Amino acid sequence: MIREEIRTLSEYRLSQHPCRIKLNQNENPYELPPEVKQEILRRVAAQPWSRYPAFVPAAQIEHVAHYAGWLGEGTLLGNGSNDLLQLLFTCMLERGQGVVISQPTFTLYKILARTVAADVHEVPMTPDFLYDPDRIIETARQTRARLIVLCSPNNPTGTCLDPAAVARVVEETEALVILDEAYGHFSGTRMVELLAQHDRLAVLQTFSKAMGAAGIRFGYVLLHPPLAQQLAKAQLPYSVNLFTLTAVEVLLEHWESYRSWIDVLIRERQRVYRRLSSMESLRVYPSGANFLLFESFRRTARETFDGLLARGILIRDVSTYPMLERGLRVTIGTPEECDAFLAALEEVLA
Ligand code: PMP
Repeated sequence: MIREEIRTLSEYRLSQHPCRIKLNQNENPYELPPEVKQEILRRVAAQPWSRYPAFVPAAQIEHVAHYAGWLGEGTLLGNGSNDLLQLLFTCMLERGQGVVISQPTFTLYKILARTVAADVHEVPMTPDFLYDPDRIIETARQTRARLIVLCSPNNPTGTCLDPAAVARVVEETEALVILDEAYGHFSGTRMVELLAQHDRLAVLQTFSKAMGAAGIRFGYVLLHPPLAQQLAKAQLPYSVNLFTLTAVEVLLEHWESYRSWIDVLIRERQRVYRRLSSMESLRVYPSGANFLLFESFRRTARETFDGLLARGILIRDVSTYPMLERGLRVTIGTPEECDAFLAALEEVLA
């Protein structure tokens, strides 16, 4: 009874491993300040839970739009950015239409494309895991692609695109370009300005990474108001619940008081990068995100992953991704967590 595209899809699963130090999902290792959590709980408790939230949560939309630097009419809120990716894929793609993605990249793009029976055209990154905008453009033109997904910084490589490259992909193709900036805070590049000149661009952001709130499930997409209006028609009502809407409000009010953890994480990434670069049997790639991709040559990715796990440290084995037979990805944690990871890795590789 289930459509063939779904039956033939391999599962998107994440194995759960008990561990002492969790560096496998690119989460922020720092918890929100207790007073911020308390304030969220206080405000949630003061509202009626028996009623639906606002049909259009106008205050939160304006707040998020102001924070992001874009128009409220061009901002859609979602239950995580995954939710909005699904909205974009279902609204943009019909069976057999083309979507261009780079590889290796975030697994969900291909899964979503397959669920709508779209044709996925994969463009390999360069051997150093840089984007290849010429080939992306060429592939999109040849396949008359409706959608192109760019992820910057890219998961799992950490690769960044510059705004000029993104603009070129929009200008030289006819597709809608999704720019997934889940890790954008860690790269220092601001892409939102591109929206003023480009109406075939959708910038996707989330509270799950730098904002330290993966558990509340909140993401948003910024795009031109006429497109937002169309997409909104296909959104489920109330997909962002009362708790999340309240948390978003409080988090944005307090953001300035804890946003310095981004600089801490960037410095920590640089320190871990230098340490990994100095290890003989590894190759580590520069990253604009809160994680690092590295390849292990003396041990396989699986052996390295298992050796770390045996020492209580969970990272991500990405060796099943295209081009990454030896690849592992480690999320940047606190300095103590990163020290424990580095020490364990040295033992595993010895
Ligand atoms: N985009 C990318 C590139 C990601 O890595 C992730 C999380 N793994 C997401 C989007 C989804 O984030 P969320 O649904 O938590 O906003």
